[in-house]
Amino acid sequence: MLSTALRYMEEEHTCPHCGEDLKLCHAPPMHVGDGLGWGSEYLFVCLNDDCPLFVKGWKYIEDQYGHVGSYRHMELPNSNEQINMMVAGKDAFKGSVVQIDELKAQNERYQKEKKAIQALDTCVETNDLASVLYLLTSEHPSLEVKKRASTYLLPLNSIDCIEPLRNYTFKDEHLAMEVNLAIKAILENHFLKECPYCSELVKSRAKLCKHCQKEL
Ligand SMILES: [Zn+2]
Ligand SMILES: [Zn+2]
Repeated sequence: MLSTALRYMEEEHTCPHCGEDLKLCHAPPMHVGDGLGWGSEYLFVCLNDDCPLFVKGWKYIEDQYGHVGSYRHMELPNSNEQINMMVAGKDAFKGSVVQIDELKAQNERYQKEKKAIQALDTCVETNDLASVLYLLTSEHPSLEVKKRASTYLLPLNSIDCIEPLRNYTFKDEHLAMEVNLAIKAILENHFLKECPYCSELVKSRAKLCKHCQKEL
């Protein structure tokens, strides 16, 4: 959970070997060996290349196991247990540091999506087209959520949905079809049609497009 990670960001962990702050990192999907992982999505890791544990680790691992590697000091969130974690190289975990800005942005997006999903229940009564459009035209909501959102287009019956929906490419063919059918019905309800040349809305009985002057 993102909120969990944001809470972890507040935790302070210091490396007992070098005194530097540990970095909050995404845990690798699986820990080689036990296959169970660390039981946490996040780990605090000392990424200081001058950390004595890391500096001395290379020789130790070579002597003990005969392969290249070293140790990073690691602690789990909510724990003071100190773990020497074996790493294969200098760059291990450096790409996994949790970026707080990115995380905050993700969290905001998640909250916004959650709010929009909740708003669907009453979107027709409250005339909340914005939530429906947000869910339909963002990349992250699930297909199931998008399909549900699309069922509110016709009850909302607003021509304001047409432009944003036409500007978005739906990856799912079935969803694209549902959206198209809804737009078609909304246009009919408003006695309108889309000009095939310039895409502007014109009266369904118009013989000439008032925007591009082409014959319809
Ligand atoms: Zn250290
Ligand atoms: Zn036109």
